[in-house]
Amino acid sequence: MRKLAAGNWKMNGLAADLAEIEAIAAGAPEGCEVLICPPATLLARAAAFGLAVGGQDCHAKGAGAHTGDLSAAMLADAGAEYVIVGHSERRADHGETSEEVAAKAQAAQGAGLTAIVCVGETEAERDAGRTLDVVGAQIAASVAGLDPARLVVAYEPVWAIGTGRTPTLEEIAEVHGFLRARVDVPLLYGGSVKPGNAAEIFAVPDVNGALVGGASLKSADFLAIAKALAAA
Ligand code: PEP
Repeated sequence: MRKLAAGNWKMNGLAADLAEIEAIAAGAPEGCEVLICPPATLLARAAAFGLAVGGQDCHAKGAGAHTGDLSAAMLADAGAEYVIVGHSERRADHGETSEEVAAKAQAAQGAGLTAIVCVGETEAERDAGRTLDVVGAQIAASVAGLDPARLVVAYEPVWAIGTGRTPTLEEIAEVHGFLRARVDVPLLYGGSVKPGNAAEIFAVPDVNGALVGGASLKSADFLAIAKALAAA
């Protein structure tokens, strides 16, 4: 399975921060793909550094009266090769359902992009023992009808995103094994991946890379994670 280190800059980054992306492009290791998903305002300039770039969301429609939204074709036109869809912050902040996520992913693939579909349970769902039920329902509805050749799935426990907390390696293995039985595509783990925990996470079976938020903002940290993945 190919390996992918993907950085999600969320709503962070101004032109002055392009130097970090330039440094990531310059230091990206052989042995894994390195992707940055900056804010859309930086996409075209980031793409010029020669590393893979992606959007953080796209609309399900190709064009039309949707003020403030971006189509998958627009992202591709700006140089994107990937787009994240169904990030838990989109599901929570914008009420996106798995069916809407599937439509966005379809649109992404239709525009030639690889869709990174995110799934993951909340803390209350994990505490209630419902993790596999929740992730199973999300994956079934979110990837229906998609082309596996242009699909990546990210398992991101909501309670681990930006908190410094991570599941145990056994818990990550359990969910990734569960996902592997359902989709034969690269599986990323996301949620507080740092240089200090990357190698042990990448040693977990069926972990093919990471979706990294905070630690992708600094080139030194993100390159350390990418190098751990390349060596895994
Ligand atoms: C994310 O944004 O998808 C993410 C995993 O964030 P962080 O690495 O900061 O937890």
